[in-house]
Amino acid sequence: MKVLVVGSGGREHALAWKLLQSPNIDRVFCIPGNGGTATMPNCQNVSLSIDDFEGILRFAQVQGVGFTIVGPELPLALGIVDYFQAAEALIFGPTQEGAQIEASKSWAKALMQEANIPTAASATFQSLEAAQAYIQQQGAPIVIKADGLASGKGVTVAMTIEEATEAIDRIFAGQFGSAGETVVIEEFMTGQEVSVLAVTDGKNIRPLMPAQDHKRLGDGDTGPNTGGMGAYAPAPIATPELMAKIQSQVLEPAIAALKARGIDYRGCLYAGLMVTPKGEPKVVEFNCRLGDPETQAVLPLLETNLDELLLACVEGNLGNFPPLKWKKQSSVCVVMAAGGYPDKVETGQFVTGIGKAEDLGAFVFQSGTKLKNNALVTNGGRVLGVTALGDDIRNAITNVYSAVEFISYDGMYYRKDIASKA
Ligand code: ATP
Repeated sequence: MKVLVVGSGGREHALAWKLLQSPNIDRVFCIPGNGGTATMPNCQNVSLSIDDFEGILRFAQVQGVGFTIVGPELPLALGIVDYFQAAEALIFGPTQEGAQIEASKSWAKALMQEANIPTAASATFQSLEAAQAYIQQQGAPIVIKADGLASGKGVTVAMTIEEATEAIDRIFAGQFGSAGETVVIEEFMTGQEVSVLAVTDGKNIRPLMPAQDHKRLGDGDTGPNTGGMGAYAPAPIATPELMAKIQSQVLEPAIAALKARGIDYRGCLYAGLMVTPKGEPKVVEFNCRLGDPETQAVLPLLETNLDELLLACVEGNLGNFPPLKWKKQSSVCVVMAAGGYPDKVETGQFVTGIGKAEDLGAFVFQSGTKLKNNALVTNGGRVLGVTALGDDIRNAITNVYSAVEFISYDGMYYRKDIASKA
């Protein structure tokens, strides 16, 4: 079967790589893909834009693609799944209505309240004055969020009232365009974060291996927030008891509430959770797609054929799907970024050493790369995600950093402490 993957990040490289491990898959197309998917055997990049639904559907139909998997949130929020479903083409991901669980934080909060899902107390505002008055009344620390999609930049965890009021001023002044017409203000939660990527057919929901990511740029979780500097799985904090609570208090009620709203949510439901000091899970956010870089850490541990799992979700058969099989190992993914990231980044630097890292047994998932005259050059902020497995987390950390040392390009930056808190 041929499969189409929409997106250009490390997550999509990992998806394409994992799909090609399956005996059922002979070819993967990536729209638009990156330098890694361009050079992987049996994988081909297709130069189309991720919001060109007409072009993507036509390509899938002409090529006889069995089903399509959508990586990033944007095409889901714009309705790519509705577009494919109208043509009876199989696609993994929620409809536009379901994607609101990520695309509108106030929508997601209302759903959580309706379903009694544990999360931070919150209030939603459309006026600057009312939001500012609420902050004065609540005090700090407090968390300010632009309602819509803002690539992870729309959230301010304010430790003082001044920081909070500044964040609100910026949002209502139009910093995030229409994504900031509504503001969600939340109670500040403390604890450790864990990401649970779950797959669902709209009735049943199964978690993948729990992971932890590192959002901050600097070692010791310092510096600005980024798209993610690394991840590891399984996250030791997610004990079987905690996973059982997440299943019964978060995942199942979310699917039931979506269903009650008439939404047949098939795809990935990603729960970003805070584990409180008392060991209770509280939802920080829901995403409507797989995480990046969590996917690059989780998929190398999965033994089950990914195409079969995702197709079971698309076809509504997850209830009959056998238990997922996992390698009894740990996985660590280190993201290697370009100089200047997350601000203005340098591109066009030659990348070397990937082959040597792979010879050590690491998986090098590319994101901000492209081929230029057959040479691999940097082409974005997050350049590579290097993943290695080990018998335990310690071992996986040693393996991943041994592999990372072989890779080089001008301006290269990566965190040295990924997974150390595990
Ligand atoms: P991303 O796209 O990077 O996942 P996002 O813009 O959707 O982020 P959130 O995940 O809601 O935003 O928040 C980003 C980060 O801010 C969280 O990972 C968490 O560290 C912190 N955060 C968010 N809400 C809270 C809260 N109520 N209390 C404490 N920290 C929070």
